[in-house]
Amino acid sequence: MPPLLELRNVKMYYGVTNGVVKAVDGVSFVLNKGEAMALVGESGSGKSSLAFTIIRLLPRNVAEFSGEILLHDEELGTVDLAKMSEEELRRKIRWKKISMVFQASMNALNPILKVQDQMVEPLVLHLGLSKQEAIKIAEEALLSVGLAKDVLTRYPFELSGGMKQRVVIAMAIMMKPKLVILDEPTSALDVITQANIMNLLKELKAKFDLSYILITHDIALASEIADKIGVMYAGKIVEIAPSDIFFRKPKHPYSQKLLAAVPSLREEKAIEYIPGDVPSLINPPPGCRFHPRCPYAIKGKCEREEPPRRQVEGSEVACWLY
Ligand code: ATP
Ligand code: SF4
Ligand code: MG
Repeated sequence: MPPLLELRNVKMYYGVTNGVVKAVDGVSFVLNKGEAMALVGESGSGKSSLAFTIIRLLPRNVAEFSGEILLHDEELGTVDLAKMSEEELRRKIRWKKISMVFQASMNALNPILKVQDQMVEPLVLHLGLSKQEAIKIAEEALLSVGLAKDVLTRYPFELSGGMKQRVVIAMAIMMKPKLVILDEPTSALDVITQANIMNLLKELKAKFDLSYILITHDIALASEIADKIGVMYAGKIVEIAPSDIFFRKPKHPYSQKLLAAVPSLREEKAIEYIPGDVPSLINPPPGCRFHPRCPYAIKGKCEREEPPRRQVEGSEVACWLY
């Protein structure tokens, strides 16, 4: 069976006054049906940009967009989202095949518009459903996320953070997509609510055989749900590996640093900080983009030549050490 989603050398650069921001710079990976991939990496590494690129919601200042974004779908066959027209994407793909829970989206709900108006209206407007049909779909989705259907008649300001996040997730699964992209779905919530939302995401994944791309800063959270982990650094995926292998033995020096920066409740272990910042994506370092911060950088090699991603003991790693 072909994978659900396949990215091949995807690039997306933003145009800014002093050059181009190489936010997504040659990203390739495969996501299988029913599989959850966590995308981790520091702030500014390009995670949200990659998400917007996949669902093709790009801002006006895009300077370059290339590569293949192949969706293998039972109904549509194999389609390249990178080549689809906006009209086709709207009609066939967004929300129906791929949906997204945007970063901080629960706070983007309009507090003074009833939930119904925000859930039902887009179905009527963009998908041409009748109001009756749309209400029925919205009610079912609310039930699936553990909310009563009368939430439809409430205003977001009457709901708790956890309930708002459930509404946003209900919106994402309403049209029964195959893939849901979740951009920091729990980062605005307290730990208990976070755990409840994670449980909900697990339930929905099993119930609807969903695939996820879960973007998160929180590696512990990623470990709970992800079948595989993709590590993004400065616009590139530097390591991608099945979760069990990744957490047992992260191979890229950046992945090792990321894991060492996770506080542990059980062990008395000092947290390691990663010195330096994510580099400018306008003028990223040559060679391996991590070389200015890497303790193992090989002089004469790492700052000159970009390491390709290679298979290493069940992981794919882009590093000259392997
Ligand atoms: P965070 O974890 O903070 O959400 P991220 O990994 O999602 O970060 P992005 O938001 O994708 O990172 O940003 C990647 C880079 O692209 C950053 O340098 C950011 O400033 C830049 N960027 C994002 N949107 C635009 C835009 N519309 N125009 C120009 N640059 C942008
Ligand atoms: Fe470090 Fe070199 Fe590996 Fe980059 S390629 S992570 S600089 S050792
Ligand atoms: Mg982001």
